[in-house]
Amino acid sequence: MSTQSIGLSEALHEYLLSVSLREPAVMTRLREETAEHPKSNMQIAPEQGQFLRFLVRLIGARRTLEVGVFTGYSALAVAQALPETGTLVACDVSEAYTSVARRYWNDAGVADRIDLRIAPAHETLAALLDEGQAGTFDFSFIDADKERYDTYYEQSLELLRPGGVIALDNVFRDGRVADPDVEDESVRALQRLNEKLHEDDRVHLTMLPLADGVTLAMKR
Ligand code: CA
Repeated sequence: MSTQSIGLSEALHEYLLSVSLREPAVMTRLREETAEHPKSNMQIAPEQGQFLRFLVRLIGARRTLEVGVFTGYSALAVAQALPETGTLVACDVSEAYTSVARRYWNDAGVADRIDLRIAPAHETLAALLDEGQAGTFDFSFIDADKERYDTYYEQSLELLRPGGVIALDNVFRDGRVADPDVEDESVRALQRLNEKLHEDDRVHLTMLPLADGVTLAMKR
């Protein structure tokens, strides 16, 4: 028994997937198409997609947010876990990436649950706040430009109801957050945010060593 999270060898990771992954065929097809994309590393891991589906069901989320859509895998995961009347406001700046996403959302029959907004995400979230939607969302998944994570976190926190959950991806930045001398500004932004969240008593907090690190913050 170890008191520390075990590093996953390739064999153990394969095993984890072989005994736990339940990936719908449409998601497998999207993941395979995205693997050919030059920025395929922007896609979350399949076990993360399953984790998001589980989480959305666990908290009974109906109104959800996503910051950073890329080719739509995580949005597809969340949308499939929503009830038929559920909604996902999905924020991205790229028509090119999200044109792939739309195709698969249609194939999966969940396109009508997804409200894609092509604009800088902080503007979309600010617009939702201006429309008086603070406190009305259940869940937010943040996986976009790392320098703005703190902004997305603050806006999401305002938009969430008490008990709502924010999930932040890539909080490990390939392990580079553990280097105190790192100079990469995107890594430093995550270091600052991780430290801020540690002390943030507006939320309950947990950081999971899942894929590239996922932090969950539940609004008090
Ligand atoms: Ca990511």
